[in-house]
Amino acid sequence: MRHIKFFDTTLRDGEQAPGFSMKTEEKITLALQLERLGVDIIEAGFPATSPGDFEAVQRVADVITKSSVAGLCRANKNDIQTAWDALKCAKKPRIHIVIATSDIHLQYKLKKTREEALKMATDAVKFAAGLCEDIEFSAEDAIRSDPDYLCQMVESAIDMGASTVNIPDTVGYTVPDEFENLIKYIIKKTPNINKATISVHCHNDLGLAVANSLAAIRAGASQVECTVNGIGERAGNAALEEIVMMLNVRKDIFSDISCAINTKELYRTSRLLSGITGIECQPNKAVVGKNAFSHESGIHQDGVLKNPFTYEIMTPDSVGFPCSQLVLGKHSGRHAFNTRIKDLGHDLDGATLEELFKEFKELADKKKDIFDEDLDALVYGRTSNEKDTFRLDYVCFSSVYHHVPTATVVLPYIDGIKITDASTGDGPVDAVFKAIERISCVQSTLHSYRINSVTAGKDAQGEVVIVVEFNNSGKNIMARGFSTDVLVASAIAYIDALNRYMAKEKFKSEK
Ligand SMILES: [Zn+2]
Repeated sequence: MRHIKFFDTTLRDGEQAPGFSMKTEEKITLALQLERLGVDIIEAGFPATSPGDFEAVQRVADVITKSSVAGLCRANKNDIQTAWDALKCAKKPRIHIVIATSDIHLQYKLKKTREEALKMATDAVKFAAGLCEDIEFSAEDAIRSDPDYLCQMVESAIDMGASTVNIPDTVGYTVPDEFENLIKYIIKKTPNINKATISVHCHNDLGLAVANSLAAIRAGASQVECTVNGIGERAGNAALEEIVMMLNVRKDIFSDISCAINTKELYRTSRLLSGITGIECQPNKAVVGKNAFSHESGIHQDGVLKNPFTYEIMTPDSVGFPCSQLVLGKHSGRHAFNTRIKDLGHDLDGATLEELFKEFKELADKKKDIFDEDLDALVYGRTSNEKDTFRLDYVCFSSVYHHVPTATVVLPYIDGIKITDASTGDGPVDAVFKAIERISCVQSTLHSYRINSVTAGKDAQGEVVIVVEFNNSGKNIMARGFSTDVLVASAIAYIDALNRYMAKEKFKSEK
């Protein structure tokens, strides 16, 4: 059996995509779930890009014990040293070096000749190999590179100590046949290739990322790089859950392949990512979409009742898809609540559970049925964090037909001083945002505002998702708020965004 390693880059390539940025605590939660899922390598970030990324990689490296933890770096000493500083506490650290190999990247982006790039790459791998045992080398835009030059790069990288060589289709340009042939060509033309694992990293610009990854596995690749829900730059990366289930469902085709992924954790991992980022995958998404296992047509329903395999090639249970939705309510006890929270994949300490149980009881007073989505909202909507600069103490709206809306807000700073202010606005949401702006003295531009209903029903909780920019920093911050009152949810979302901004500013000034 050939073991295929899963290299998950949700926290690096995925997080890089607009709207998917995560707080360090959220990255740790997701990393722990990825480990539970059984991924072989977790790429936790790109430490040299920002102090925030550095800290996140370091903290993920600290908590992960079974999976390897990788940090990305460019082919220069400073990036490599920074990555190593972040990774060295990991049980199994991996330095991942990337350099472009296609002429178009060399000429326009790096402004280097092929020879210069080759030297940069060999120097970089050599330097990294002096720090860390596990080195991965990536030839960016490999698919559009001259195959012989690519082989030369790969050979030198292996000579210098790279144990994994990654062949990315950075721009999502290839087709399965072409990619399979390229991998076979590399295997044939690189003399020392059996000293390293061949990896692939496919993007989905033309919808073929998964198909191309599978073609590479057939050709001899033993590592695939992918992300949960297929998130990532532009059209995203190859979706982890799709590759995993393909290998499982078509064991007849992939008969010599094994992997360490626990498929029953796939759905939970997908939901956790959606919960953290606030971005749901489309209902018809393969394997983990809401409709992936629902049968609407009468003929199909009839068939499935007679024998599920008439229309189901895999069972919902095999990917951890919940068969029934357990509903909690006012009379549900602590035990039922704690069990359900755990089943939903949340790993919380006793004090946090206790705090959430109180919030759950308050919610159950306002809303008859508490669904899984409501419980997720409680977990993700937790706003009290002792590091937060602002907390919402009081908010009051007045909105009268034909009159100017106003909002009054009381915000205590963390040291306890309470500040009250009020503002008018185009509507109550605008008024409350302006009132908070006045208290915080942080100017803001709202780029998007969206209300979702967490569940169905008239008494459903509202989720407000906003994208806001503070002090013309050029950095958009996404934040969410949950409440049965959408105006209150708006205020909570705005304060969450503000706290995220303040935390980043504080981080910058401390460094
Ligand atoms: Zn990528």
